[in-house]
Amino acid sequence: MIDRYGRNIDYLRISITDRCNLRCRYCMPESGVEPLAHDDILRLEEVLSLCESFTALGICKFKITGGEPLVRWNAVSFIKKLKAMPGVEQVTITTNGLELAQALPDFQQCHLDGINLSLDTLDAETFRQLTRRDGLDKALQALDLAAASNIPLKINCVPIQGVNDQELPHIAELAREKVQAVRFIELMPIGLAAQYQGIPADRIREQLAAVFGPLREDNGKIGNGPAHYYAIEGFKGKIGFIDALSHCFCQQCNRLRLTADGTLKLCLAHDNGVDLKTPLRAGASKEELQTIISEAVLNKPAHHAFSEHPEETEGKGMYRIGG
Ligand code: SAM
Ligand code: SF4
Repeated sequence: MIDRYGRNIDYLRISITDRCNLRCRYCMPESGVEPLAHDDILRLEEVLSLCESFTALGICKFKITGGEPLVRWNAVSFIKKLKAMPGVEQVTITTNGLELAQALPDFQQCHLDGINLSLDTLDAETFRQLTRRDGLDKALQALDLAAASNIPLKINCVPIQGVNDQELPHIAELAREKVQAVRFIELMPIGLAAQYQGIPADRIREQLAAVFGPLREDNGKIGNGPAHYYAIEGFKGKIGFIDALSHCFCQQCNRLRLTADGTLKLCLAHDNGVDLKTPLRAGASKEELQTIISEAVLNKPAHHAFSEHPEETEGKGMYRIGG
C-alpha cells in the first residue's frame, strides 16, 4: 500500500495484550491501570482474520508486541499460525524476556525471524527500581538462550537520565560477541515518559567512543526499522540508534499499528485511530475490511507532532500501543 506521501506501507505492529508482568516507570503505572475488558480485546482468531486482510493489501512484515506479548495465553501458537499464513514474509517479537525461555523451542521450530529483547539495565537493583519488579535473572537467562539459538537477536535499551546513563557502555558490550545489535531508543514523550528525560543519540555515541574508540557509520541495513547503525572495532554486532526526536524519520515510515482492542493506529505519536473490531464483529467481509484499512491509510499523518503540536500527542501509556 502506498500512502499519499508516497510511503510504502508493508509493516504492522500488533499489540496482542495491554497486560504486562513488569511496570517500567516510563511506560506503565504501578496501580490505577484499568485493564481492557476481556470482551474488548480481540481474540487471537480475530487478529489472524484481520491479518488476512492486511496481507491482501501487501502488509507482509509483522511485529508482535504488547504489553508483554508472552503473558497472553496462546501467544506462541498464534505466532506460529501467523508465521505459516500465506503472504506473511516476516514475523518478529518484542519482549521483556521474562517468559521467553519457555517459548524459544517453538520459536526456533517455526523459524521466527527475530527477537527484540528490551533490556534497559544489567544491574539488579536498577532493574527492580525501574520495572518495580524482580526479573533481571530471568531476562538474562533468556538472553543467553536466545543468543545461542539461530534466531536473530537485538537488544533494545531506552537510556534515561539518572537511571541507566552510567551503564550504557556495559550494555553496548553485548554487541561484542552475543547479539546482532544493541539499539538505543530515544525516550519519546508519550504518556508517563513525559516525566523522564531521555539522552540524545549524539551524547551516547560520544560516551561509547570514549570507551571503545570511534564508531563507524554502517550503511548496511538490519531489519525494517528506522534505526541507523554503527560498527565498533572488535565487535561482531552493531550499535543502533532510534532517535525519533533528534532526527525525524517519518518520511520513511513504513508502518501501521493494531492495538489489542482492535484499533488501527496510523501513527505512534497521534492520539487517534480507526476501529476495526466493530466492523469485524458485525461480520464485515475481508474485502470490506480491506477497504476500511486502505481508506484509513490515506489519512496516515505526514509526521509526528511532538514539538509543534504536543496537544495532539498520544496520551496513552506505551503498554497500550505496543511501542
Ligand atoms: N513488553 C515488551 C517489551 O518491553 O519489549 C513489548 C512492549 S514495550 C511497550 C515495547 C518497547 O517500547 C520497549 O522496548 C520499551 O522500552 C519501549 N518504550 C516504552 N515506552 C517508551 C517511550 N516512551 N519511548 C521510547 N520507547 C518506549
Ligand atoms: Fe511492560 Fe514493556 Fe512497558 Fe516495560 S516497556 S512496562 S515490559 S510493556
